[in-house]
Amino acid sequence: MIKLPQYVFTKAISKWGRTAQMLKTAEECNELARAILRKLNGYSELDNLVEEIVDVEIMLQQLKFMLTEDEPVFPAMYEQFTREKLLSLRVKLEETGTGHKK
Ligand SMILES: [Mg+2]
Repeated sequence: MIKLPQYVFTKAISKWGRTAQMLKTAEECNELARAILRKLNGYSELDNLVEEIVDVEIMLQQLKFMLTEDEPVFPAMYEQFTREKLLSLRVKLEETGTGHKK
């Protein structure tokens, strides 16, 4: 993933505001969910899915930038959740069975 320069985030937040950028993040996540479903159902091509992945990655970088500025505890909390989620994933991968509910 290409890491965007922070001045881009600063300018975007200054131009549109934090609330609008958070709403945009939610909107882009929704567009990605739709693109995944359309790809799985055969209604769209790969380029649409890739475009929405990029949109979400950009907005997530910006969201993390804002939260790091606004919430001093955010970086440590983010790291802690990442460690816990990765550990949980490793445990699930070690479990027997397919992991699919019947
Ligand atoms: Mg989009």
